[in-house]
Amino acid sequence: MEKKSVPEPVRKVDGFGGTDPGPRNVTMDRLNPDILVPPVTDRGTIPNLKFSFGMAHMRLQSGGWTRQVTVRELPVSKSMAGVNMRLNPGGIRELHWHKEAEWAIMLDGVARISAVDQEGRNFVDDVGVGDLWNFPSGIPHSIQGLEEGCEFLLVFDDGGFSEDSTFLISDWFAHTPKSVLAKNFGASESDFADLPTDLDRTRYIFAGKVPGPLSSDRVSNPLGQVSFSHHLTRQQPIKTSGGTVRIADTTNFPAATTISAGLVEIEPGGMRELHWHPNTDEWQYYIEGSGRMGVFASEGNARTFDYQAGDVGYVPFAMGHYVENTGKTPLRFLEMFKSPRFQDVSLNQWMALTPPELVQAHLNLNKAMMGALRKQKWPVVK
Ligand code: MN
Ligand code: MN
Repeated sequence: MEKKSVPEPVRKVDGFGGTDPGPRNVTMDRLNPDILVPPVTDRGTIPNLKFSFGMAHMRLQSGGWTRQVTVRELPVSKSMAGVNMRLNPGGIRELHWHKEAEWAIMLDGVARISAVDQEGRNFVDDVGVGDLWNFPSGIPHSIQGLEEGCEFLLVFDDGGFSEDSTFLISDWFAHTPKSVLAKNFGASESDFADLPTDLDRTRYIFAGKVPGPLSSDRVSNPLGQVSFSHHLTRQQPIKTSGGTVRIADTTNFPAATTISAGLVEIEPGGMRELHWHPNTDEWQYYIEGSGRMGVFASEGNARTFDYQAGDVGYVPFAMGHYVENTGKTPLRFLEMFKSPRFQDVSLNQWMALTPPELVQAHLNLNKAMMGALRKQKWPVVK
């Protein structure tokens, strides 16, 4: 077998640095080439903007597993948190609610989701790969894996969220006197004799039977239905030279009142252009491929981070950034915002729409470069 050369913290362009005789974690160094050998343009102190779900504690349950990346794992991520969850065939994420809104994208398989809102309207739908849902804060819901099981990403509009502190239906039953339950439901105390007593008396994520077709799970309701899902892959993407972007926000997904998203696909050699967001922080999830993000923090500070599938990235409010595909396959990732609207400002478009003499006076750009500026926004370039 050919021996792979060990990367060293020595920069080719200026020869700065020196070899690392160890101790060292070469696997980590290979995953983070721009941390080991930062480009000469990097400078100063920037908070950590990367945490991998691969380093997040797995909670294993009878019906699947879950892990989370929150402000506890990635301290800069105060505005949003993420959960990656697997439900086995028939596996049920228990009926529950929480203070935070829950935005989701399906990554694998098919799930059945249900909810009831404050007006008494109900919802049940089957969602497959690329489909989204959004349950506003406090709305009770459930998720169940169908024949092949499912995996999905949940994004919450508060970095302090914990998947371990949601309001579970079984938990409430276990902590309410049976006399109160009997009175509430107009039943007798003996009707509650078989409430679960295992596993802290709650279900959380538990094994279940794969349900029948969607039609068999529809509950008729004189108050009507409500929709919390959105089929993102059916949406026509914005296509530019280096790839595509699909944006889901309140303009096309009205249920997502507090969280907006962009699903970005970058071809090999392509790049999410230099831009920033004028409204809020960006929480990222890398779905496929590998890339590098450079972040500009003002005061001469900039740092470059590397990402692979399963990693979480973050961009603090207003910081300039780009994301470059560094692999030989497409790079796909999510840009998430705690905002009803997706908003970005393009460096290129800003310069194209500003008096050219004024731009020239700052940067000494030549005529050809000035002429190449684009008045249209191209989110992904090559
Ligand atoms: Mn939930
Ligand atoms: Mn961005």
